[in-house]
Amino acid sequence: MKLCNFCGNKNFKERVVQYIYKYDEHFLIVNNVPCEECEFCGEQYFKADVLKKIEKDFNDIYTFGKEVKQAITVPVEDFIEV
Ligand SMILES: [Zn+2]
Repeated sequence: MKLCNFCGNKNFKERVVQYIYKYDEHFLIVNNVPCEECEFCGEQYFKADVLKKIEKDFNDIYTFGKEVKQAITVPVEDFIEV
């Protein structure tokens, strides 16, 4: 039986979510990624082959120049305390 690593809850629901993969300063946003979400704390669990596929896409895009469906510009700021 599977338990949540964070809260020990054993009820999960299947969801599709947006996954943000980051490596160095490169990002890949993947929509509609299947995962299981802990019903109690909301921690999301992804299957190893799902993560592998995202990693492969990331490499295809950044290493081999694979064309992406959509590219967005993301604003970047440093946090300055007021
Ligand atoms: Zn949990």
